[in-house]
Amino acid sequence: MDAFLLMGFDASAGVLDALTRFQSLAYILAALLFILALAGLSKQKTARQGNAMGIVGMAIALVATVAVSVFQDQEAAVFTIALILAAVLIGAAIGIWKAAKVQMTAMPELVAMLHSFVGAAAVLVGFNSFLTEPGMAGDASNAFHMGEVGLAVFIGAVTLTGSIVAYLKLSAKISGKPLTLPGRNAINLVMIVACVALIAWAINTTGVEEGLVPLGILTAISLVLGAHLVLAIGGGDMPVVVSMLNSYSGWAAAMAGFTLGNDLLIITGALVGSSGAYLSYIMCQGMNRSFVSVILGGFGGDAPAKSGEARDYGDHTETSPDEVAQLLKESKRVVVTPGYGMAVAQAQYPVAELTRKLIDIGVDVRFGIHPVAGRMPGHMNVLLAEAKVPYDNVFEMDEINDDFGEVDVVLVIGANDTVNPAAETEPDSPIAGMPVMRVWEAGKVIVSKRSMGNAGYAGVQNPLFFNDNTDMLLGDAKISVEAIIASL
Ligand code: NDP
Repeated sequence: MDAFLLMGFDASAGVLDALTRFQSLAYILAALLFILALAGLSKQKTARQGNAMGIVGMAIALVATVAVSVFQDQEAAVFTIALILAAVLIGAAIGIWKAAKVQMTAMPELVAMLHSFVGAAAVLVGFNSFLTEPGMAGDASNAFHMGEVGLAVFIGAVTLTGSIVAYLKLSAKISGKPLTLPGRNAINLVMIVACVALIAWAINTTGVEEGLVPLGILTAISLVLGAHLVLAIGGGDMPVVVSMLNSYSGWAAAMAGFTLGNDLLIITGALVGSSGAYLSYIMCQGMNRSFVSVILGGFGGDAPAKSGEARDYGDHTETSPDEVAQLLKESKRVVVTPGYGMAVAQAQYPVAELTRKLIDIGVDVRFGIHPVAGRMPGHMNVLLAEAKVPYDNVFEMDEINDDFGEVDVVLVIGANDTVNPAAETEPDSPIAGMPVMRVWEAGKVIVSKRSMGNAGYAGVQNPLFFNDNTDMLLGDAKISVEAIIASL
């Protein structure tokens, strides 16, 4: 009997060993797929493929993680599987419903909300890990564990409330104005120092009761810190903040990976953390803002800074869809530079149709995309892909900016700040130094916007509209482009 039990035990240990090896291999494969997914997502052409790789990687990771943990506790296997399936089904149903109904312009707020879930998960994993394995003062390996718990709770709580505030600001549920308390940077610094001290305290505790005191205070301070950090940042900088919170959520997940002893979660968290940080950096460069000035906040309220309007740039000239159609027909090279207005008007479909018609009659049509055109990174690329504009015709600003001198007509569809020459010519402009598309170098510029009264996102007048080679096509972009198509 004993021998039989022993054999059974051996067999089960053997299977567990094999499963653990399979898990390590699966994790390596999943990590590789995640890296390939990021590489794929960096280009419009390969984005779909990148997405698919990420999905496959995540499916492999989930199966490998669940398989081993279920085998480790076979008595509770059915219950565990049922619980996981229920969670996956409920989560997937809510996710699909949300993703199907979200407007493209509301994407940043949805992303902000999703980041808050990652933050909450990191806090919960941290507490769970602490409750199952509380502090043992004097035990070096346990001290390391408590340090991980403290960091997971700290980063997770900051991400949680920071993301909630970002969501509320982006969805205009609270004012976008920065909350500039006197000495706010000193307040943040004091809170950060307190959090470090509390983590050190938690490391030196023994048992649940003793450890709960510093961890509880740490959670409360971190929650306040996250909210305060983001409240101090103006609504205008929120997209950069969302990308920054994306980075924080990655680090929070990596910390949760340490506390759970899950290598793949550490890798995935680090990938998200570093790519989010890099994206924030690219966005700051595109807006000519320093990363530190965004983090420290206090810039950009509901009404962006006004400047330059006092200058008299002269008169503008207006044109009609018929005239524009004629002009386009006679052109050899046309570049379309879309901006936020194209998203507002949902003009991407007629713009794509216009492009096809022009290409059919032999016009070379390209798109020039500014890195911060619209209201989130890749905003224009997503809209153009949605309308099935061929990827090969879409160029980044750096790829096309030197070619405008050889372009016959530039069609500016709802772009303003990203094509504003004041960024290069007026040192006192709020957008001075921001890299812009040099559309004014083209033979003719047609600007589609609704009226001459409204400024762009930065709230500054655009001298481009008053140039001799610029004609204004006033009206909703969708209606204007449809009228051009009708005339063609
Ligand atoms: P802007 O926000 O500067 O200008 C938008 C233009 O679209 C305006 O001229 C507006 O004029 C016009 N418009 C609005 N609705 C319509 C419509 N229905 N039909 C036609 N035109 C319309 O756009 P850009 O894309 O050029 O610049 C983006 C700005 O956003 C930059 O300042 C950037 O720094 C900022 N930003 C971008 C982020 C990103 O990640 N992409 C993140 C944070 C900020 P009118 O109202 O008269 O129609």
